[in-house]
Amino acid sequence: MQVNIGEIKDTKGGEIRFRLVEDWSELYLDGQSVHFASPVVFTGRVTATGEVFLVRGTVATDIETTCARCLSPVRVSIKADVDERFRMASHAGGTGSASDREDENDDWRQEDVQEFRGLTIQLDDVVLENLLVSLPIKVLCQEGCRGLCPQCGKDLNVGECDCTIDDINPRMAKLGQLLNGED
Ligand SMILES: [Zn+2]
Ligand SMILES: [Zn+2]
Repeated sequence: MQVNIGEIKDTKGGEIRFRLVEDWSELYLDGQSVHFASPVVFTGRVTATGEVFLVRGTVATDIETTCARCLSPVRVSIKADVDERFRMASHAGGTGSASDREDENDDWRQEDVQEFRGLTIQLDDVVLENLLVSLPIKVLCQEGCRGLCPQCGKDLNVGECDCTIDDINPRMAKLGQLLNGED
């Protein structure tokens, strides 16, 4: 996902509205896979405030995940607000003068502003970051999902299994037998 700011780069207060749609299907992050069940839609605008370009909007998609109790597939709609700042990378070779530049009057702290080169702001990273923080940590297929039997693994939403689940810890039961002189 990207937005070209060519037409507003010299216009303070200039604004470009956009609606970006991209199909990401499956992403692998730190060994985890995120499965997108619908395209990622980013609706927003980029505003030129002088040196800094503000990108604001809402990103929405559906994620397919599994129920935390019974492991059946669940589709979850997620939505995240995006509010990010970008500035054009300093011109080639200008590192010295760039660091000399007085930034004290800047509204934005330097570290909150990401640099981009050329006239195109790449948005994939910020979109992904904002989506990931809005991912629900634990998803259930239904409220009150009964989960799987810890002994036989049967989905208890479908029906009861034949296991009898003792409340007594098996090791404690064995200890009880020993103390009672049983074997
Ligand atoms: Zn479930
Ligand atoms: Zn069972």
